Amino acid sequence: MNNSNFKKDKPKKRFNNASENRNRSRPSNSNGKPGFKKDRRARPKKAKQVSNLDPNLLSRKAVQTEVKDFRAERTIDDLPINNKLKALLTAKGFERPSEIQDRTLESLLEGRDLLGIAQTGTGKTGAFLIPMIEKMVQHNIQNRTYALIMAPTRELATQIQDEFKTMTKGLNLHSSCFIGGTNINTDFRNLRRTPHVIIATPGRLLDLVNRRAFKLDNVHTLVLDEFDRMLDMGFINDVKKTLQLMKSRKHTLLFSATLDKKQEGFIKEILNNPVRVKVSNGETTGDHIDQEVIRIAAGEDKFKILTDLMEDQQMDKLLIFEEAKFKVKKLTSMLNSKGIKADEIHGNKTQNARQNALNKFKQGKVRVLVATDVAARGLDVSDVTHVINYQLPMTFDSYIHRIGRTGRAGKAGKAYTFVDVK
Ligand code: ADP
Repeated sequence: MNNSNFKKDKPKKRFNNASENRNRSRPSNSNGKPGFKKDRRARPKKAKQVSNLDPNLLSRKAVQTEVKDFRAERTIDDLPINNKLKALLTAKGFERPSEIQDRTLESLLEGRDLLGIAQTGTGKTGAFLIPMIEKMVQHNIQNRTYALIMAPTRELATQIQDEFKTMTKGLNLHSSCFIGGTNINTDFRNLRRTPHVIIATPGRLLDLVNRRAFKLDNVHTLVLDEFDRMLDMGFINDVKKTLQLMKSRKHTLLFSATLDKKQEGFIKEILNNPVRVKVSNGETTGDHIDQEVIRIAAGEDKFKILTDLMEDQQMDKLLIFEEAKFKVKKLTSMLNSKGIKADEIHGNKTQNARQNALNKFKQGKVRVLVATDVAARGLDVSDVTHVINYQLPMTFDSYIHRIGRTGRAGKAGKAYTFVDVK
């Protein structure tokens, strides 16, 4: 690999406490110079957003995390669930429950509400689906929608449905997934069959309710997955409306990666004497991921630096983050014209195109997926070998979230961050 034209930083400094570093910022540009006479005709310049990340904090060697060490004492066979479900989980390759699954199963089977603080990749989906499926089988649920699962993004909703399908093969339970960007007439058709479980993003869900395609008043269980992201994305009113409409809601599960003090009041209102379980997979600090900064001097060819770096054949499942949709598009076509198979995922793509790109990436048909932050939220691709931040992300949270796409489920991960040196 020719790496003569870029400087790799040696890991300099480790930081253990994410929140401690979250507020470190570079001084931002100031427009208000003293004595500057305003020209009334001039349009105010849109301030260029400046990342508040200090690149010096982004180089560190991975350290072992607790989750890799977590091993439930019981196996799937020991769980208090029916044998068919055990067999389906085993067929998926599950041997033991993950920490959140292990610590919540009994409470959820008893019907206790849950506040689960957990990152993506910790097995949350199984944590809520396993007891939900068990209860539907036990109570022989038929001809009614028993549960509603709300997720902030279309990709996450689709992933939950995929997981549901593999966990219910032959159990005569079915689900429907309602997400924006798809043909709503298909949703109407699916609703005629009364799905036992509905998985939806908030906008499409309420759209269907408003069109009187179905009613929420008989739904027993509500799961709010990635609740913090749901609020970040401005879905609070949709969530409130949904809660209002669920008149027979008896069981509520809320999962969030972080717990914002400001939301605690609202969460208390939603949950009734919940069990609180907090698990960490180390993603909050990125401790389990090797991180390196690559400084790009003015005039250097960033794309060449990227492709040189990619001569490393171990980099075989690579997620690259770009800051804007048009830049994602451009970088993807540059990679493809170099003969590097790449696809893209961003908000301007149809849901089908996004899903196709994701599937191709998961199946290894393309080596690279180029994405914006928003499109990458909640993605579960288990064996991403490398993450590259082609631009310095705006915030530390976003940085941690991005690099958390690699080094999942106990695997080694590596992240590079390109920093333009002025
Ligand atoms: P989350 O919902 O927290 O993002 P998932 O439930 O999607 O995490 O799990 C992440 C990955 O780990 C998925 O591919 C899932 O199939 C797998 N997984 C979940 N639970 C287990 C388990 N107990 N054993 C092995 N793999 C698991």
